[in-house]
Amino acid sequence: LFIAFEGGEGSGKTTQSRLLAIWLRDQGFDVVQTREPGSTKVGMRLRAILLDAAHQGLSARSEALLYSADRAEHVEKVIRPALQRGALVVTDRYIDSSLAYQGAGRALDSSEVAKLNEWATGGLLPDLTVLIDVPPSIGLTRFASPADRIEAEPLEFHERVRREFRALAAAAPDRYLVVDGTLPQEEVSRIIQDHVREILPD
Ligand code: C5P
Ligand code: MG
Repeated sequence: LFIAFEGGEGSGKTTQSRLLAIWLRDQGFDVVQTREPGSTKVGMRLRAILLDAAHQGLSARSEALLYSADRAEHVEKVIRPALQRGALVVTDRYIDSSLAYQGAGRALDSSEVAKLNEWATGGLLPDLTVLIDVPPSIGLTRFASPADRIEAEPLEFHERVRREFRALAAAAPDRYLVVDGTLPQEEVSRIIQDHVREILPD
């Protein structure tokens, strides 16, 4: 079972993916909790390049390629091996982040970004994507100051990102759970657990 968490800045997906992994382990499942970018040796270097404030103005195409390179490495070295041994995989960000940030945010052609990522991942899609939806005007106030290059983008950029995440969920409702990320943390995690319980293997 492969579950991805998606959402904008300050949506709480890092917290929620951690809480879900803990809940699943408590039930005896083998869980691999991971994130993008930066869950492999090369991925950590790509993450540093991608988030460096000194790289403001990085070309949108190279940005898309570097994220997909990170993802290719992530799938081949971490996600597929874990799924093959029967582990549950919970990732903080996956392909939708590229469609939202590089496709909608940077205004690249989303269908091209989708093709690039299909190639990078060999077509591996999550069984469930949990979208934690928070208006950027709220999410961006959840940390004191922009921590990285993307968080420093203007509000309209983050609004485009949010719209794309929501559109992706609306286009494939069977594979998505959209949760209101402005709800209290315990309520968000309960909603997610209630949904995941229904799709767990025996
Ligand atoms: O989730 P996390 O905050 O660790 O992500 C790191 C940064 O990378 C975020 O600011 C996020 O907006 C950005 N990002 C991106 N495109 C992606 C994935 C992440 O711009 N495909
Ligand atoms: Mg961040």
